[in-house]
Amino acid sequence: MKNIIFIAPPAAGKGTQSAIIEKKYNLPHISTGDILRDEAKKDSELGRYIREVLDSGSLVKDEITYELLYNRLSLDDCKNGYVLDGFPRNIEQAYKYDEILSNLNQELGYVIRLDIDEETLEKRITGRRICEECGTVYNINSDNEKPKVESICDKCGHRLYQRNDDNITSFKHRYDLYMEKTKPLLDYYAKKGILYVINGNDSVESVAKEIDKVLKEGM
Ligand SMILES: [Zn+2]
Repeated sequence: MKNIIFIAPPAAGKGTQSAIIEKKYNLPHISTGDILRDEAKKDSELGRYIREVLDSGSLVKDEITYELLYNRLSLDDCKNGYVLDGFPRNIEQAYKYDEILSNLNQELGYVIRLDIDEETLEKRITGRRICEECGTVYNINSDNEKPKVESICDKCGHRLYQRNDDNITSFKHRYDLYMEKTKPLLDYYAKKGILYVINGNDSVESVAKEIDKVLKEGM
């Protein structure tokens, strides 16, 4: 059984690595954000409530998130494990997650922390450029990910733009918040002996290899 949680700062490559594991190990990739968005599409009282909250930009009540997560994790496709993305984000959610798992008769599995230098993240975020037409993502701070012509998409020739929150001030704020919220979470999982720290500064391929080693050891 492979239940995997990723803990990583913004732009650390969590989504990319989750997708790789999903394919390689044939595990569902579960994100609380997706669960809520799916529920919001339903024509039910709960669906309408979530839609309103999401539209207004506020946060859905924790109790509702927990219940929906419980329901999702109890489905058959999670029996052999899953990759959980975006949860738990703080120590309160970690306690709640323990409860959910114990009700499901499941174990924590692996908590994988992607460790990345703040400077590397800053470069990734401030260098990110996105094609306004096809959505391809570039990075002007990386020789491998730069567009061939400045500000122009290699694939479709349209202009590239920078997301509003991809600036240093916003990054610093998100990063500090992440450090503050996850520190107790990491201590908690380290004490349980299931925290694996992976160096996320390397290429996507070598990070994936390191994660592979961790998962294979426990098979
Ligand atoms: Zn394009």
